[in-house]
Amino acid sequence: MAIFYPLLILGLLGIFMGVVLSLANKYLAVVEDPRIDDIEALLPNYNCGACGTPGCRAFAVAILKGEVENLRKCKPGKVDKHFNPILEYLKDHPNPDGTYNNIKI
Ligand code: SF4
Repeated sequence: MAIFYPLLILGLLGIFMGVVLSLANKYLAVVEDPRIDDIEALLPNYNCGACGTPGCRAFAVAILKGEVENLRKCKPGKVDKHFNPILEYLKDHPNPDGTYNNIKI
């Protein structure tokens, strides 16, 4: 009987923390632009940093923010294999406000 109260308290604490975490997951979730994953997948994914960003994901974010004027900043990237597919993707997926980023190869 002496173990009943500690188990009860631990059980209630577990339920409480579960509710808090599920509410935090629902209301504090950070919504990320799904295009970031797609553009990252189209990049070479060497994460070499030659483009001046910490990696391919950061370069994809910079592309979508309009901070990249020329895709050739990605030194290992190839025109046919990487840059043209990215430009095609961006034509089909404009910014949420309907604008297009002015990016060149
Ligand atoms: S230069 Fe290209 S491959 Fe290297 S981190 Fe930048 S985007 Fe990725």
